[in-house]
Amino acid sequence: AMRPYIVGNWKMNGTRAMLSEARAIDRGAERLVKVEVALAPPFTLIHATRKEAALIGVGAQDCHAAEGGAHTGDISAAMIKDAGAGFTIVGHSERRANHGEKDADVRAKAEAVLAAGMAVIVCVGETEDQRDAGKAESVVARQLRGSLPQGDNAGEKVTVAYEPVWAIGTGRTPTVEEVGAMHRSIRAVLKDLYGEETGGKVRILYGGSVKPENAVELLGADEVNGALVGGASLTAESFLGIVVAA
Ligand code: 13P
Repeated sequence: AMRPYIVGNWKMNGTRAMLSEARAIDRGAERLVKVEVALAPPFTLIHATRKEAALIGVGAQDCHAAEGGAHTGDISAAMIKDAGAGFTIVGHSERRANHGEKDADVRAKAEAVLAAGMAVIVCVGETEDQRDAGKAESVVARQLRGSLPQGDNAGEKVTVAYEPVWAIGTGRTPTVEEVGAMHRSIRAVLKDLYGEETGGKVRILYGGSVKPENAVELLGADEVNGALVGGASLTAESFLGIVVAA
């Protein structure tokens, strides 16, 4: 079986005062070595988090697709790696919705992350209207085909995060059956894109209102290899409550 992967996405939260939580998460993860644990703090805390935390992975929440140049306010994948990160999240629905990122943009970012020598977490997920219209799986398949990085060995450094938009920050989640059905469908697309062997090894995380109380159930769904956690990753107590469940 794959080692479960639990990733905390701090979103636009965290000043240096929160480094104590990162340290406590790192200490807790030391006792839970069967689980791979990582945090994606804001850019401003990547370097400090890497220094505070010896064991867990540290990554970014986004990057620019270009190597460098006249892009005021943007951050390149090489800069993120230089700050101490080992991975970057791309294509989060908040980026897609608030910054107009399309599948092609997400793919360009994912390929920039790989080119910089980091692993990448590519996020996909349907809106509530799309699910109600019976299109959840086709929407997610289209996002995967348009957003996942291409090129030699790309599939070996990829993690997929399935985050239904309507479940993010809402306290609502799909049923275990719905999560399992979606993750099976994602697995089939991954095998088609990356081949049977590599596509079979890509980890597929579930994200959206994961908490200590529902983590055992959601992590037990078919083809769920971990979780991408927002709100509940902001304290060591709740985040480690999810890690324990994995
Ligand atoms: P919540 O766990 O706060 O619902 O956020 C999920 C998410 O968007 C993680 O990337």
